[in-house]
Amino acid sequence: MACIGRFAPSPTGELHLGNLRTALASWLSVRAAGGRWLIRMEDVDTARCRSTLGEAQLRDLAALGLESDGPVLWQSRRKGAYQAALQRLFGAGLLYPCICTRKDLAGMASAPHGEDGLRPYPGTCRHRPLPFLRPDALRFRVPEGSVAWEDLLLGPQQDDPAALTGDPLLHRRDGCYAYHLAVVVDDGGQGVTEIVRGQDLRGVTATQARLQEALGLPRPAYGHLGLVTAPDGSRLGKRDGALGLALLAHRGVDAARVLGWLGWSLGCLERPERAGLEELLPGFSWAKVPSGPVAVPASWM
Ligand code: GLU
Repeated sequence: MACIGRFAPSPTGELHLGNLRTALASWLSVRAAGGRWLIRMEDVDTARCRSTLGEAQLRDLAALGLESDGPVLWQSRRKGAYQAALQRLFGAGLLYPCICTRKDLAGMASAPHGEDGLRPYPGTCRHRPLPFLRPDALRFRVPEGSVAWEDLLLGPQQDDPAALTGDPLLHRRDGCYAYHLAVVVDDGGQGVTEIVRGQDLRGVTATQARLQEALGLPRPAYGHLGLVTAPDGSRLGKRDGALGLALLAHRGVDAARVLGWLGWSLGCLERPERAGLEELLPGFSWAKVPSGPVAVPASWM
């Protein structure tokens, strides 16, 4: 089966080094397998996303030589596909309306926090006899049981989606389709076979696998990369959040140096020296990618 990978940023801001590292790892993995690499703009949340930010992200990716092998898919134009998926889940009895407000959810202090700060939905509306209204907040009734998968980077993984995310929201009361639905429908629709993303999303994989099963979609391979941190290993704060190509160029670090550093951080080079994609590709192998976080050079801060 041909390998199809994708990079799927949300156009809510500038791409930072962590995003660029994810994009590069995904591109290298797909190219090493002779496959196709796609870019998808995850702009379902129209209140937070801007097409101008998406265009700027595409320019930054192109500055590193990372271009989609086919048209860039914008999720804001895919509402029909998401609605059809909801219909299918409704038909299978796997959707239920939820009337919990943000305040209700915040007040559920006893709910344990899932990894990465996610708070699993405790299932309050699961057993409430509620009518389906329009527009409704709709949740996926996640089937019981844990999900096992082999992560390209982390090896064997096993998670219980009920414990990590609970029943995720698939449609919001404001009419927006939610991330879990859009990501699963589009990965399936685009024939994606390999997903490389940050470890902050590892905890949602089991939930998305359950949704794939419910929609009759195949499960892609997953690789979850360590995050890019500040030089002292702490999380890059909001203030450093724009540590992207523009700020680095302003500090005298050009695209070839960024690419060389990213490639080195993925195990493709012996030293973090300037490089082009063609110099990184022969050195790429998942066996050489470090599984932990990687710190930005202090001189770039
Ligand atoms: N759009 C998501 C983000 O930017 C990534 C989704 C994914 O890779 O599954 O965080």
